[in-house]
Amino acid sequence: MTANTQQAERAYEIGREFGRRGVPAILGGIHATVLPEEAGRFFQSVAVGEAESIWPGILQDLCNGGLKPLYRSPGPADLSAVPAPRYDLVQADRYNLAWVQATRGCPHDCSFCVASSVFGKKVRYRPIDQVVRDIQTIKTLWKHPNISFADDNLIVNRKYALDLFRELRGLDIRYFLQTDISMAEDDELLGLLKDSGCSMVFIGFETVLDETLKQIDRHSFKHRYVHRYSSLIQKIQSTGIGVFGAFIVGFDQETPESIERLGEFICENRLYASQITILTPYPGCRVRTVLAAENRLLDLDWSHYNCTEVTFVPRNFTPAELQGAYNRLHQRVYAPEELEKTARYFIERFKAR
Ligand code: SF4
Repeated sequence: MTANTQQAERAYEIGREFGRRGVPAILGGIHATVLPEEAGRFFQSVAVGEAESIWPGILQDLCNGGLKPLYRSPGPADLSAVPAPRYDLVQADRYNLAWVQATRGCPHDCSFCVASSVFGKKVRYRPIDQVVRDIQTIKTLWKHPNISFADDNLIVNRKYALDLFRELRGLDIRYFLQTDISMAEDDELLGLLKDSGCSMVFIGFETVLDETLKQIDRHSFKHRYVHRYSSLIQKIQSTGIGVFGAFIVGFDQETPESIERLGEFICENRLYASQITILTPYPGCRVRTVLAAENRLLDLDWSHYNCTEVTFVPRNFTPAELQGAYNRLHQRVYAPEELEKTARYFIERFKAR
């Protein structure tokens, strides 16, 4: 099994039940990678790190009846050697997104995220012909696939991204990817994205708080763009590509007024979609280390680590106040009249084109 933190409690229940019935069960994934000892209390075996290099050995041991309690990947997998996903095993009619992965790793190392520590700060790339082959396989299985790139940031390496999008141009697909706002400055890239079928980009803006953004990632990368967020969003959306913005509330500089401002920002910029979450101190991330040192961790039930519940003591709010402000922000941003305005905004743009 694999589980993220918010699924860990349920995974543990299932692991315990398998144990009771004498069925060997193995847990892998991000949570088990960060807390292998905890996972080992509920599973016969735990896989730490990326599975590709250790999975064949795990199966061999299982067949020989000698499953070890812990398997640790020797390091990041060589992405040119990972096997092609068995898309044919997926019941295509039950999923509206078909996932493809081209890269792994993220250089930004944001304080609330474990992507850089689990997958590495150095980005690794799959050969483009393998990515194209996966998409061609998907096209044989899904009628009109909505392809989603699972990469944390597909455009970290401009040359790789341009080469990939050139290849995607001929495939007649619609796809969605995750990246950062710097891509809006690159006209060639934007043009290629549009021509190759990109319909939406997911961008982690995180917050509009200046001070928070200075500290959020390794090189204050996101802070460089905060004063141009609006014009860059406009630029991307004017091409017909929607921006799906991700925001987090609850950083130490957050105040009731800043949450109000965030609501205004999201509505005024007519983001195609937005994901608003509450800061969540996941195991393995720097935010958790700081909050633990300050004795501000409130809740140790992993099922509450779902990004919509307050699990720590905020700086300028009580936990209940932050929860209330977050709920009101949701009500404002997703109010029917706001969604209608956004729909009209996009209809006008498409008509103009
Ligand atoms: S939040 Fe996004 S940019 Fe920051 S480390 Fe995680 S994946 Fe990278």
